[in-house]
Amino acid sequence: MPLVLATTTPGEPEIFASLQGEGPSQGKPVAFVRLSRCNLACVWCDTAYTWHFEGDNRPHRSGATYERKANQVVLSDEETAERIAALDQNRLVVTGGEPLLQGAALAKMLALLPGVRVEIETNGTVEPHPALDPLVAQYNVSPKLAHSGNPADLALVPERLRHWAAEPRAAFKFVIAGPADVEEVLALAERFAIPRERIWLMAEGTDVATLEAREAWLAPLCVEHKLTLSKRLHIQLFGDTRGT
Ligand code: SF4
Repeated sequence: MPLVLATTTPGEPEIFASLQGEGPSQGKPVAFVRLSRCNLACVWCDTAYTWHFEGDNRPHRSGATYERKANQVVLSDEETAERIAALDQNRLVVTGGEPLLQGAALAKMLALLPGVRVEIETNGTVEPHPALDPLVAQYNVSPKLAHSGNPADLALVPERLRHWAAEPRAAFKFVIAGPADVEEVLALAERFAIPRERIWLMAEGTDVATLEAREAWLAPLCVEHKLTLSKRLHIQLFGDTRGT
């Protein structure tokens, strides 16, 4: 079954080994596979090459759109699994875009990688495919707040948020650009009964200076509200580049 992947360079799928940069597994060595396509359109998305293709008029702060042919590649589930296995890591992070849009194909691919611990990065709006769900050890769920620019009815789906709040495999990772965003997180945590020990707050930014400036006020808010701070380790180590 084919999967639509993002590319590092035209024709080359974004499958690589690195350190997990964010959330509860931060610092762990992992294989990554990045799938193309997303059902949301965050104005600050740092992987807009997975969805902001030519002709897409939704706003993105860069103003850039991407040629679909150069930024997507179709691989079979077998070839995708072979390339991941060749990286010889016992953890895999499936990221995007929104990987759960390709749940059926993803389930077939992951079934070819027994023994690999699988984390899925998701925006939390899509129900996991029933064949995929048993193969996943951890969901890193990143619901998008008002500052993402998405309409709330698309980005914050009550039924889905209730599901993730009740799912012990789900770690919530919120992207924070200003102190008011923390208030929005606290309101969501209250409304959907999200346990605070499963909430990570992460500064928005694609350069070290921006991240550090935001972490300076975010860290005390984490302490005050008993929430965990997530770094963006990959930005610190490698900068804002593909395949890292
Ligand atoms: S949900 Fe994630 S991949 Fe999709 S637009 Fe937002 S930040 Fe980008």
